[in-house]
Amino acid sequence: MLNKNEKIKPLDKKVWLSSPTMHGDELKYMTEAFKTNWMSTVGENINKVEEEVAKITGSKNAVGLASGTSTLHLAIKLAGVKRGDRVFCSSMTFSASANSICYEGAEPIFIDSEYDTWNMDPKALEKAFEIYPDTKYVLLVHLYGTPAKLDEIIDICNKNNAILIEDAAESFGATYKGKETGTFGLYNAISFNGNKIITGSSGGMLLTDSKKAAEKARKWSTQSRENAPWYQHEEVGYNYRMSNVIAGVVRGQIPYLKEHIRQKKEIYYRYKEGLKGLPISMNPFDEKNSEPNYWLSCMIIDKDYMSKEVRGDFDYLYKSEKGKSSPHEILDAIASINAEGRPIWKPMHKQPIFRNNDFINRYGKAKALTNAYIRGGFVDDRDDLPEDICSDIFKRGLCLPSDNKMAEEEQDKIIEVIRACFE
Ligand SMILES: *Cc1c(COP(=O)(O)O)cnc(C)c1O
Repeated sequence: MLNKNEKIKPLDKKVWLSSPTMHGDELKYMTEAFKTNWMSTVGENINKVEEEVAKITGSKNAVGLASGTSTLHLAIKLAGVKRGDRVFCSSMTFSASANSICYEGAEPIFIDSEYDTWNMDPKALEKAFEIYPDTKYVLLVHLYGTPAKLDEIIDICNKNNAILIEDAAESFGATYKGKETGTFGLYNAISFNGNKIITGSSGGMLLTDSKKAAEKARKWSTQSRENAPWYQHEEVGYNYRMSNVIAGVVRGQIPYLKEHIRQKKEIYYRYKEGLKGLPISMNPFDEKNSEPNYWLSCMIIDKDYMSKEVRGDFDYLYKSEKGKSSPHEILDAIASINAEGRPIWKPMHKQPIFRNNDFINRYGKAKALTNAYIRGGFVDDRDDLPEDICSDIFKRGLCLPSDNKMAEEEQDKIIEVIRACFE
């Protein structure tokens, strides 16, 4: 196969998609926990981190938990989601959003994206309420750190008496009309997973204005212990509380949130500038109303400039064509110089595990797939709707190396190999 990048030399050091960036104070706070023996799920670091995140976001309460996923699970429980309930959920997301719904035995109904922010399409959400008018819950994701169309979505939720839950795992620090993502829903989640904008190595935080809900989450997350001299239980509990050691890492990172966002923003605009003239565009956002945290820089290839590419469940194949390119050609080219990109998150309604779940876009509901899943044989199906925007973005888009430690020269090289892909 023609290699359009043969001349370009690999980078000396690997450039990651998005890796942890430590500054020093993380170790100080971890050591403090160690020296004072608060090696537990209580301690000063947790208190401080909760206080500071509440201050930064303007949320009245913040509860430190073990992960973004466990936070979403408790948010789903706090909302009152019960077995068999439907929850409208962004289809283009990381699986944790949908899994948190499944943990309660509820059914995620997947909602299509729009092209302006790549997040949940308000028109598709409206359609979903037409089809299932008694649905009471919406789980909204701000993908790649880009705020969704919050005004429209909140309006639709209010009209339908539905509770909004935000999955702001990727968007900590991003704002919509000056207000932080993770403060629009009743119960909201952010994540401190290793690749997020700031990290604790792991960890998550529940944001809510309800003091009662915050107290409930604290109780549930520590095995639902009642106030008694012995272990007394009235409810199912979880071991979901944040560790005071992890909180030490988060505490050391918090002062650098703004700096990380600034670096990520520079990376985004450097790509935008460097890729000018190519038949592509960067992941878009509402420039008037929102300020993303620019967690991941992504690009999408114009329809007419896509070379042939097909994907199975586990592999892909593409043909190199002059003047055109495809996500995997670009990802392979990026990998060949020792940098890490990634395909766009594969929509949930295209995942074998969710093949029987509904998918709704602005035109209606896709048929559920009832055929058995045969490993490797379940290829791109459910194409019965006139348009499937999140699958189209998955097909034409990719995530670019967005590590905030990436040097300008390294990024220039990445830009160079991408440009070469379109030669
Ligand atoms: C990372 C992520 C999560 C899960 O967070 P963890 O801390 O890894 O459990 C949930 N939703 C989205 C959209 C994410 O990107």
